[in-house]
Amino acid sequence: MPADRHLVYQTSLMSALLDGIYDGDTTVATLLEHGDFGLGTFNALDGEMLILDGVCYRMRVDGTVIPADASDLSPFAVVTRFVPTVTIPVDAPTSRDEAVALINATLESANYLYAVRLTGEFEWVRVRAVQRQEKPYQPMSEAIRGEKTLEFGRSSGVVAGFRTPLYGQGIGVPGGHVHYIDAAHQHGGHVLDFALVSGTIEICIGTDLHLELPLTAEFEQADLSPDDLADQIEQTENHR
Ligand SMILES: [Zn+2]
Repeated sequence: MPADRHLVYQTSLMSALLDGIYDGDTTVATLLEHGDFGLGTFNALDGEMLILDGVCYRMRVDGTVIPADASDLSPFAVVTRFVPTVTIPVDAPTSRDEAVALINATLESANYLYAVRLTGEFEWVRVRAVQRQEKPYQPMSEAIRGEKTLEFGRSSGVVAGFRTPLYGQGIGVPGGHVHYIDAAHQHGGHVLDFALVSGTIEICIGTDLHLELPLTAEFEQADLSPDDLADQIEQTENHR
């Protein structure tokens, strides 16, 4: 059993994003009060969010990165204070699937949340970013039709995010949800796939989930339990 409790803070739900709830009421400043590590997106799906070492980045549809403002709003984000309890050195070229297998083999239980940070040299990283959405918002399955897939060549950087158990379906993205940013904080996005040359995987367990739901009319009206929830998550978040 984990020695200590460790809190993960989340605003809104993956299922709300899928339903087109792209405007939230949580500021970046609030997120940073609850963690120095995390990911998510910004209102109107205007960029992918990554928080590393207490700094929040907005990664735009063209793959470029700017620092987020404290007042920027998020419709979905997950953060924690990253305190690694497990470190796995990776000395040989490793695919995303192999990295996931390494992580899964190391976890003491599949039944908790885990924050994962992979720092290293990458042969390539394939990411996507979604185009900023205009109202009236369409469901995520429609919004990603305009997504751009980018591939970054050899670079050093960080792949970071969360591993969520299957019971978290709809709350988060079951399996891994990770974002990439290069070491110069110039390029990044939502990770589809990568090839790691070498690096270090660090893992931080999450035993407690604080879920803060938006106090918005749109959230009140959202359909959060579609019949094809699992398919929608697979299609929008996990495709390669
Ligand atoms: Zn993402």
